Amino acid sequence: MLRLAPAHDSRPGRSGQRRSRMIRIGFDIGGSKLAALAMDQGGRELGRARQDVPRTYAATIETLEAVAAALEGAHGPAGAIGIAIPGMIGAGGALIRVVNLPWLEGRPLRADLAQALGKPVAIANDANCFALSEAIDGAAAGADVVFGAILGTGVGGGIVVGGRPLTGANAIAGEWGHNPLPAGEAADGPPVVCGCGRTGCIETWLNGAALARDYRSIAGRRLGGPEIARLADGGDPAARTALARYQRRLAMALAGIVNILDPDVIVLGGGLSAIKSLCAEVPKLWASMIVAPDPQTRLVPARFGPESGLRGAAWLGRRDAPDT
Ligand SMILES: [Zn+2]
Repeated sequence: MLRLAPAHDSRPGRSGQRRSRMIRIGFDIGGSKLAALAMDQGGRELGRARQDVPRTYAATIETLEAVAAALEGAHGPAGAIGIAIPGMIGAGGALIRVVNLPWLEGRPLRADLAQALGKPVAIANDANCFALSEAIDGAAAGADVVFGAILGTGVGGGIVVGGRPLTGANAIAGEWGHNPLPAGEAADGPPVVCGCGRTGCIETWLNGAALARDYRSIAGRRLGGPEIARLADGGDPAARTALARYQRRLAMALAGIVNILDPDVIVLGGGLSAIKSLCAEVPKLWASMIVAPDPQTRLVPARFGPESGLRGAAWLGRRDAPDT
């Protein structure tokens, strides 16, 4: 069932700005929920919709079409549609792998939806959409090279260069979570098998479960990341040890990104980005791990947080976006 909700815009108003009548529409298709956002050309939210993800390909097309029509009816015509998907999207918008939505795999969603709507459709990995949102008007606004790092249940990432998301030859650009963490640091804990089947992936050291596991190994009880951070702030020795190890591991993993990509800004998203000390402490630690003598890369928390995937999808539909 479609539920349209009124706008609840977190952005400051832009009175006096001349706006195009064309709106932007973005979809974020997650494992269970499908979210849609209509915004104006300046990024101001106009309205949104949210519902369960349809469980067949045909129903997905019908739903996207119906939601887009409802948002256009309420807010005006859209120039293009952007979609964020948790998976690998190849050249031409082919859905190579889609996490938890197997009925979309191998389907020409972009072409079919573009035909149904009669307008361009762009599809990108949700981490790329996160990075795009933060690069356009989020925490990395104005930066040329942006790495968006997501620290949550999984560890993902996306790269934006010059305002465009980078897909890559294998549609995996930015997937740092499945590189091994440098062995010297990893040696102080047991190896863990990753969801990808490999052992010792960065994701198994930096996701939420990893911090909880490390704390439990010291304190004997299980807490979530933000609670561990609160205890560490209060001086709890076990929490301080676990958080210090987490920060050092994150610094090592991100130093590898800086040495290869040399981004202007790294934006942290995902549940663990709520730990405020990360952006303050990690750059102090990575300074000795990065080959440049005085690293200028900034580490900042996401401005739009969990909204960034959806906002990035809406920005994706720009006429100058690479896949439109
Ligand atoms: Zn892995």
